[in-house]
Amino acid sequence: MADHAVLIAGAGPTGLMLAAELAIAGIDVAIVERRASQEVIGSRARGIHSRTIEILDQRGVAERFVSEGQKHGFVHFHVPIDISDLPTRHPYTLGLLQKHIERILAGWADELGVTIHRERDVTGFTQDERGVNVTLSDGTSLRAEYLVGCDGGRSIVRKIAGIDFLGSEATTSWLIAEATMSEEPAWGFRSDALGTHAIGRMDDGPMRAGVVLIEPQVGWDTEPTLRDVSDALVRVYGTDFGIHDPTWVSRFTDATRQAATYRAGRVLLAGDAAHVHPPVGGMGLNLGVQDAVNLGWKLAQVIRGTSSDTLLDSYHAERHPVGARVLKNTMAHMALRRPDDRSRALGDYVAEFLSMDGPRNRMAGEITALDVHYDVGDGHPLLGRRMPDLEVATADGSLRVYTLLHDARPVLLNLGGSGPLDIAPWSDRVRSIDATYDDVWELPVIGVVAAPSAVLIRPDGYVAWVGERNDAGLVDALTRWFGSGAAR
Ligand SMILES: Cc1cc2nc3c(=O)[nH]c(=O)nc-3n(C[C@H](O)[C@H](O)[C@H](O)COP(=O)(O)OP(=O)(O)OC[C@H]3O[C@@H](n4cnc5c(N)ncnc54)[C@H](O)[C@@H]3O)c2cc1C
Repeated sequence: MADHAVLIAGAGPTGLMLAAELAIAGIDVAIVERRASQEVIGSRARGIHSRTIEILDQRGVAERFVSEGQKHGFVHFHVPIDISDLPTRHPYTLGLLQKHIERILAGWADELGVTIHRERDVTGFTQDERGVNVTLSDGTSLRAEYLVGCDGGRSIVRKIAGIDFLGSEATTSWLIAEATMSEEPAWGFRSDALGTHAIGRMDDGPMRAGVVLIEPQVGWDTEPTLRDVSDALVRVYGTDFGIHDPTWVSRFTDATRQAATYRAGRVLLAGDAAHVHPPVGGMGLNLGVQDAVNLGWKLAQVIRGTSSDTLLDSYHAERHPVGARVLKNTMAHMALRRPDDRSRALGDYVAEFLSMDGPRNRMAGEITALDVHYDVGDGHPLLGRRMPDLEVATADGSLRVYTLLHDARPVLLNLGGSGPLDIAPWSDRVRSIDATYDDVWELPVIGVVAAPSAVLIRPDGYVAWVGERNDAGLVDALTRWFGSGAAR
């Protein structure tokens, strides 16, 4: 007998989002988390991108984040890229520190009744054909039908599962610290033969500074100290500005690695446990949250028994290529940051290309993740892409499509022209709505597309089937994504 249907290792952004998705679907889920509270030491992520905000909008909680953040109409790839004309309700990056993102996510998960077992580590597990036995650092164990490792880049779940973490070694190491300065530091950027260093103002005191310094070597095997930061400041600026009282000293590198598989039987990986890359472009947290939303509804259906567990293979099939693309993007971005003349020359060309609408649009789509395309079959360009948040007219008045996704259930939107669509065998799990929409359909990067007569939308907001004046393929799509229909 399982203690929980799903056990998640790690209550970072990925684990919290996955737990919320499962709880909305009515699945018994619990998280095991090392930290005593949701407090995040240090800044880490400083914002979220358009698709992540859309995903939160799909669950009706975007405003909780938007109301606390600042909107910036650009993303960054070597140069700032204007995204204010992207066809989304959220054509901006939302500036919001990870500590606030986690606090809001944790509050939401709590409202949904998610249990978090705090101050203990997942230390091991064994799996059999019916479930996973998970051992914890307090000597207890829990049994679950599935275990998901959302336990960060050093994931113990990934290691015990024996999943290779393949990719590129670090070529650059950065010291990062948040501390108080006695003297006014040289705020802003400073470049030298190692690259670009930075000292930025923090909002918790006039002389509080966030410091990011490139180190002369990689491959440290000790944790960094204030002394290391002081030495690095002297190396770059000739003084350490009297740095003291650090609240955070850490180190990150441009090591870029991805799990060879996101699934090993009843064990799955999501977020940094499945991929690590340097923070350029600010995509890491977003990628993890979007992994969680791809996995959550699939796991819920498998646990409920409406889908076979082969549906879980589509999680790796869909999310591994998306992760690989982000890793590639950050590697290219890092190469452009090299301080040599040739890299600078290449950077000038890249900046020139990105000032043109086509390349700008393409890169904006990639960094915001609005361009994500899952392979659900050939045909209409909407297939496998995110459903736009259209304002449609229904018998009950006008409504936004994303409000139909708040309960994380699939939706068949019949926009007329396909005739009545009979989905009675799936009526216990797929919501059918008749609506009209007379405006243009515009997709990020792709542009304007032909208006469909119906769309089948997955709980994660991606289009699984498009009606083009008939119902050809609808039953196959319903069966593939939501299981066999109940006998009438
Ligand atoms: C300096 C820096 C800047 C960044 N900037 C950005 C940015 O601008 N935008 C962006 O999107 N991303 C950014 N990131 C990346 C972002 O912080 C991560 O991608 C994100 O936190 C990943 O979330 P996660 O939940 O997958 O993993 P984590 O946040 O690492 O969470 C893992 C959780 O698991 C817990 N845990 C670990 N092991 C165990 C165990 N054995 N048992 C129980 N619990 C365990 C940890 O305590 C933690 O709570 C940045 C990262 C750094 C370091």
